[in-house]
Amino acid sequence: MGGAPTDLKLIDERGLRLDGRRPDEMRPLKIEAGVLNKADGSAFVEWGMNKVMAAVYGPRECHPRHLQNTERALVQCHYNMASFSVEDRKRPGPDRRSHEISKILSEALTHVVFTEYFPRTSIDVYIEVLQANAGTRCAGLTAASVALADAGVPMRDLVASVAAGKVANTIVLDLGKEEDNFGQADIPVGYVPRTDEVVLLQMDGDLTREEFDKGLHMAVGACKKVYEVQRDALKRRYSARAEGQEEGA
Ligand code: UDP
Repeated sequence: MGGAPTDLKLIDERGLRLDGRRPDEMRPLKIEAGVLNKADGSAFVEWGMNKVMAAVYGPRECHPRHLQNTERALVQCHYNMASFSVEDRKRPGPDRRSHEISKILSEALTHVVFTEYFPRTSIDVYIEVLQANAGTRCAGLTAASVALADAGVPMRDLVASVAAGKVANTIVLDLGKEEDNFGQADIPVGYVPRTDEVVLLQMDGDLTREEFDKGLHMAVGACKKVYEVQRDALKRRYSARAEGQEEGA
């Protein structure tokens, strides 16, 4: 969020954005499930210029033991942005931002996982951002849900995620890097279609109540499309597995 260079027009005369999208248009999204051999579950998401890998390990015994919950599993996300993922090399290692994102993604996923089935365990979700162009927490959450399903972790439903926001006084969907940097607001949303619940909601910037409602509505609508892409990735993964089993039989 901040002041744009005076010659940067985030919305042109035709009402189109810097990359030619309409305000309610998402960047192209591709998801592949089961891409890593050594993880229990995994997913790779390419979303515009974002590239995000998610890997799931567990449920497995929770270490250190003092973190164990005798009644449920702990869902622990570890969000990391690679130093080569952004234009100005990012200092490697954890920082405030990655801690915050890991925390909110863990909370969002805890809402959908049947944690009560696996007391004392940890379900570890590693989210590695390989290329970033704004919206990586949403891409990470979207990837993590597919990776959890790929690992066979019992869940109420997938979480689908996308951000809405405000740029050049217009409510837009799925902000790109310049829009995120020079726009007026950003609202990342995580949504569970089956239960119609919002499990992630943040807001950076200023919006009126009406603008917020419009942005939230736009993001929830788009999450339903993200959800279809997630389901499609899992269907492809399981039909490939089933074919492999038939051949082996
Ligand atoms: N970014 C960056 N360096 C950083 C952190 C972020 O260049 O250390 C960029 C990156 O492209 C990221 C974007 O700023 O996607 C927006 O970051 P934000 O914190 O809003 O999270 P995101 O939108 O990725 O969930």
